[in-house]
Amino acid sequence: MTPDQLLQRLADDPSRTGLLFDFDGTLAPIVEDPSTSALPAGLDGVLADLAARFGLMAIISGRPASFLGERAAVPGATLLGLYGLERLRGGQVEPLPDAVAWQAAAREAGRRLADGLAGDEGVHLEDKGLSVAVHWRRAPDRDAAARRVVRLVERVAASTGLARAPGKFVEELRPPVDCDKGTAVRAAVGDADLALLAYFGDDRGDLPAFAAVRDLGGLGVAVGHGTETAEEVRASADVVLDGTEALADLLRRLAERVW
Ligand SMILES: [Mg+2]
Repeated sequence: MTPDQLLQRLADDPSRTGLLFDFDGTLAPIVEDPSTSALPAGLDGVLADLAARFGLMAIISGRPASFLGERAAVPGATLLGLYGLERLRGGQVEPLPDAVAWQAAAREAGRRLADGLAGDEGVHLEDKGLSVAVHWRRAPDRDAAARRVVRLVERVAASTGLARAPGKFVEELRPPVDCDKGTAVRAAVGDADLALLAYFGDDRGDLPAFAAVRDLGGLGVAVGHGTETAEEVRASADVVLDGTEALADLLRRLAERVW
């Protein structure tokens, strides 16, 4: 399917169509320092317009729900953080009940990772509360950093019982509960009466969401980032867009079309 055909499908019946997005690398351009990640100028307004017209809008991210509340506060959008472990409702973060019991293990994992990675150049720890992530995008030798991080993360996973979730220049440890972007898609959709769903994502963590929307008769849309994008991500999508700017452009056109 081409981007224009996708636009046409999405514009057909907005009130019975759901738009579900990953955040980083999908709505927000990839940045060297993940703490500075943000929506491009004006896209928040476009998303708000679309949320008002479409049957469902959800943003499903590996980031904490509180982060999404700051960076992607789109009126009318459902915000699911930590791959669906958290939901932001009325300004409050609601964790999935099954995950709360793992808070102490996540803290312990954070301490052990911080000890093990102290002084490792370009490698940094992100404490997300219920989970902890290690990033090495800025490491001088990414391959060597990946090997060191994976070894340590495997050890900490074994000792804390947390589950490993690998991503693009990131390894994450999180509660071993049945929760990924696929279950998050189903939670966001709930019993909404929708004829079409589209999920937009750019990374391996989005693969379960692509599978879930396909199960539900919807479309997977990959946002490609050149050679950085895993082949399986492109292969699992119905449409591939060329970067976050192409998605922003498609959303602007879609908003004009349905408004
Ligand atoms: Mg992403």
